[in-house]
Amino acid sequence: MRNLILVLGDQLDPQSSAFEDADPEQDSVWMAEVDEEISYVRSHQQRILFFLSCMRHFQQELTESGWTVHYHRLSTDPKNDRGRSFTEILKRDLKRFSPAKLIMTEPGDDRVQREFEELASAEGITLEIREDRHFFCSLNQFAEYAADRKTLMLEYFYREMRKRHEILMEDEKTPAGGEWNYDHDNRKSIPKAGPPEKSRPMSFSQDDLTQEVAELIESRFADHPGNLAPFQLPVTRSNARRMLTHFIKHLLPLFGTYEDAMWSEEPFLYHSRLSALLNVKLLDPRECIQAAVDAYERGDAPLNSVEGFVRQILGWREFIRGVYFLHMPEYAEMNHLDQQEELPSFFWDGETDMNCVRQTMKNVLDYGYAHHIQRLMILGNYALMYGVHPRKFHAWHMAMYVDAVDWVSLPNTLGMSQYGDGGIVGTKPYCSTGNYIHKMSNFCQGCRYDYKKKTGDDACPFSTLYWDFLDRNYERLKDNRRMTFPIRNIENLRRKKEEHAAVLQRARELRSK
Ligand code: FAD
Ligand code: SF4
Repeated sequence: MRNLILVLGDQLDPQSSAFEDADPEQDSVWMAEVDEEISYVRSHQQRILFFLSCMRHFQQELTESGWTVHYHRLSTDPKNDRGRSFTEILKRDLKRFSPAKLIMTEPGDDRVQREFEELASAEGITLEIREDRHFFCSLNQFAEYAADRKTLMLEYFYREMRKRHEILMEDEKTPAGGEWNYDHDNRKSIPKAGPPEKSRPMSFSQDDLTQEVAELIESRFADHPGNLAPFQLPVTRSNARRMLTHFIKHLLPLFGTYEDAMWSEEPFLYHSRLSALLNVKLLDPRECIQAAVDAYERGDAPLNSVEGFVRQILGWREFIRGVYFLHMPEYAEMNHLDQQEELPSFFWDGETDMNCVRQTMKNVLDYGYAHHIQRLMILGNYALMYGVHPRKFHAWHMAMYVDAVDWVSLPNTLGMSQYGDGGIVGTKPYCSTGNYIHKMSNFCQGCRYDYKKKTGDDACPFSTLYWDFLDRNYERLKDNRRMTFPIRNIENLRRKKEEHAAVLQRARELRSK
């Protein structure tokens, strides 16, 4: 054997750099299902199902096109596994196959990359790590962009990307429609009568390969959190493209307008659910953006929706990845607000009388999914104000979401949501009372708490914890110009001694529950 091409579960693209110049006659592919990756924080059952099923389908695709794939399946009996970690399994295989060289595309997890590098060095074999061409912005380009900037702002990075890649531009300098950002049109709540133009979410039936994985999970990982059914996601490239087409045709037109809205029993609203497919590389971000821009040019989708969607993928997704690789490994250790609490148990089972949390956790347990505002302004907001350790919130997120991969999860959880990085990703903590949730959803109508109250037995826990959070972090936040208004409000509350004491007492009660 000449080279052994290592393919990880989030690198399922035959066009990736690892395959460049490869020859199925001389080179082989190596893939492994690894217990350690599933169990170090016990993964949601659908997360396991999605990753393993996509991997097995990719193995099939490669085999059909002439590749030899050395693929390690997890066994229903752990005693039959060939090792618990990537390195245990690969070490044995290096002895079996004696390849001249190992080749892989940059992993999306800093820890995993280091494991492979250490193994290769210990075994005295060359490991060639190639750039990940899936992304618009290479790691070097991002480092150059960041080099002479004191702070990184998504908005300026995003404008650069639009110009560089000529996406939604009228000419070199002018954005389509004359504005870079249509966020002001993208904050509507759902009308009282419910979501207009309901569209049934797309769902794919399970073939034999997916069934086999489901049986493995039932026999080996049944005690993991989350529900195995209903599993709806595609696991092949062709079905992933059908999901993209469905989104462009049926959901994109209203995506922008209701991007921040939430509604009971509507887990997806107009969101694309493409993140997991993008992250395992069944979809390319270029084809997603092109499809949305084409819809705009045909007059099938309005600019606020198309620009909003482009910003998420060309802006946020690329920015978040740049931040991860620029600041790792130190980033994972950051805890700017010195938060130390454990996650409350309802983050695992959804059992709580807070209606907004219960509804959101139902999405997480049923689908390994919640849309951005549910992640940020409900679950993330609660964890932040409660005082959860940011790394614990991140570990939970990695386990519970089908689309979680370290490079995208960590800066979103520890950074954007928990302000653990002290302002690298976002300029201020995303904290809010129940007022915001009331404005953007119908959750408060069916809740035993009163979103307007911050003290008393029926006080909304978000409204209590908001003031407690500001009080606790007063010194750290008082000079942040974007926090001027909340800081002034907590100063006012501190002056009302009795009310202030009652809020802090109620927050202590919530924590001791
Ligand atoms: P849509 O709303 O349809 O958006 C379109 C696409 O834009 C998404 O598919 C995604 O690829 C991209 N996108 C949007 N926002 C972001 C963002 N902030 N960062 C990166 N990409 C973005 N996204 C992940 O892919 N994996 C994660 O592990 C992840 N963890 C998150 C944790 C927290 C606390 C928060 C607040 C956000 C997180 N996100 C993560 C970003 C975002 O919430 C999800 O990408 C999105 O909800 C996925 O659903 P969708 O495909 O329906 O997205
Ligand atoms: Fe959530 Fe508070 Fe509204 Fe209840 S009242 S749904 S806890 S925001």
